Amino acid sequence: MEITFLGTACMQPTKERNHPAVLLSYGSEGILFDCGEGTQRQLRICGYKPTKITKILISHWHGDHVLGIPGLLQTIASSEVDRTVDIYGPKGSKKYMSYMFKGFAERDKENFKVHEITKKRFCDAEEYYLEAMALEHGIPCLGFSFVEKDRRKINVDYVKKLGIPDGPLLGELQNGKNIEWKGKMVNLDDATFIVKGRKLSYIADTVACKNAVKLAEDADLLISESSYTEEHREKADEYKHMTARDASLMANNANAKMLILTHFSQRYKEMSEVEDEAKTVFNNVRLAYDCMKVNL
Ligand SMILES: [Zn+2]
Ligand SMILES: [Zn+2]
Repeated sequence: MEITFLGTACMQPTKERNHPAVLLSYGSEGILFDCGEGTQRQLRICGYKPTKITKILISHWHGDHVLGIPGLLQTIASSEVDRTVDIYGPKGSKKYMSYMFKGFAERDKENFKVHEITKKRFCDAEEYYLEAMALEHGIPCLGFSFVEKDRRKINVDYVKKLGIPDGPLLGELQNGKNIEWKGKMVNLDDATFIVKGRKLSYIADTVACKNAVKLAEDADLLISESSYTEEHREKADEYKHMTARDASLMANNANAKMLILTHFSQRYKEMSEVEDEAKTVFNNVRLAYDCMKVNL
């Protein structure tokens, strides 16, 4: 499970920071959280093929979070990869996507499907599920969680000692079924153990709110916007954003294990003031930079 920060600016990109996008690479899936302008180029710079993107989760329809979508989809459409990209977003996403694609003279094949999210657990895959909750940003805006399902694994030493061979019996154990071996029941709790799934939460533009804390509960990694510091409290309130302190309080309240801040205003040249403010509340915090990779 590898996370790449493709863009870490807020409203305006800078020389060092691109518009927002975070990539989660998980098995054969490439899941994008937001897709700011230039995201496909950032993918290239970070060594990831744009055609590997399978899902795009849109937090909200402010330009800085979505302007990269048409270019990325066009690149995928013109490649040899014949894939439909699933796009998930708040109410209104279907309308906005159709407006966006009316702006071009020629259209490649339509290689995407837009899903407007109407419930918390909106996508269920074999190994994980995705959750969304409404944030508070003045327009419909969603935060997301990627939750890996718990897996049962075989206690190899134990089954070897019993002499159970590789094959369907081990498969049944792995699926949580009790089996019989040499006339005796095998104790499932001895023969297998549970590996807890990992959780990643992504809190995009919002003021501090209860839903953000709920969504990020017990996250192994919480990625959060942190547009301002307390010095610009009134700006944070006016534009409905969080300060570094807000984000850290959220991480604390949600009992998150690690916090990575992103979506920084270009006004902060000396990032240590952002980090220091966050650390007064939550110790395990890092600041994202473009192309930063984290393994979970
Ligand atoms: Zn933003
Ligand atoms: Zn916004």
